[in-house]
Amino acid sequence: MKIIMLGAPGAGKGTQAEMISEKYHLPHISTGDIFRANIKNGTELGKEAKSYMDKGLLVPDELTVRILLDRVAEEDCKEGYILDGFPRNIPQAEVLDAELGKLGDKIDAAIDIEVPDENIIERMMGRRACTSCGATYHIVNVPPKKEGTCDKCGDALILRDDDREETVRNRLNVYHEQTQPLIEFYQKKGVLKTFDGTKDMMDVFKEITEILA
Ligand code: ADP
Ligand code: ADP
Ligand code: ZN
Repeated sequence: MKIIMLGAPGAGKGTQAEMISEKYHLPHISTGDIFRANIKNGTELGKEAKSYMDKGLLVPDELTVRILLDRVAEEDCKEGYILDGFPRNIPQAEVLDAELGKLGDKIDAAIDIEVPDENIIERMMGRRACTSCGATYHIVNVPPKKEGTCDKCGDALILRDDDREETVRNRLNVYHEQTQPLIEFYQKKGVLKTFDGTKDMMDVFKEITEILA
């Protein structure tokens, strides 16, 4: 099963992708997490990606597409995967489509989680992310057991540089201009499933499992 997560920054894509990954034993592939791991390790790719991420802009397709295609070619992706944060524009979706087409394959479900812009800023201000394993929390909605510490791996939680209000507003603009057209793209392919992301995260998850089952 090959799944794509769609939705604005902060809609809950990563939160749901993580739960889907555990239930269906599929790798959760987040391009944002791959970039952040490269930034943390000080790689050239990380340096280049950071200059865009800090402004709330998309990292250029040449970099992003290569990384994603290399990742899905790995052994653990044979039975499928969940893409979280890719594709983020029509050209990326077309490359993915063409690559899958060569293998006689396709995306099975595009899960669109809808949350109005008004709710996004509050979600992002409260989001805390683990610097090691990529797990995310929210200071009010999803607090960790011990403040500032990841439940899963014990590492430190931070407010991401790009989760500050100014940058979030830029990211929302980028989302509306470049990413939102993907909703129609996958709708035309007949694989779009839409969910109300303002509901409790476990209710959203339950609805998702009902369509994937
Ligand atoms: P995305 O991957 O789409 O950017 P996240 O999964 O990181 O979004 O979620 C953004 C923030 O909102 C996090 O702090 C997360 O804990 C919180 N969150 C996720 N789902 C919900 C929900 N259904 N209700 C309230 N808060 C949520
Ligand atoms: P969120 O889900 O909160 O929007 P992500 O972790 O998915 O955040 O992405 C963080 C940043 O990484 C994006 O704002 C963008 O700069 C970069 N990025 C992630 N995925 C892509 C992609 N597919 N194409 C271009 N840039 C990307
Ligand atoms: Zn962690």
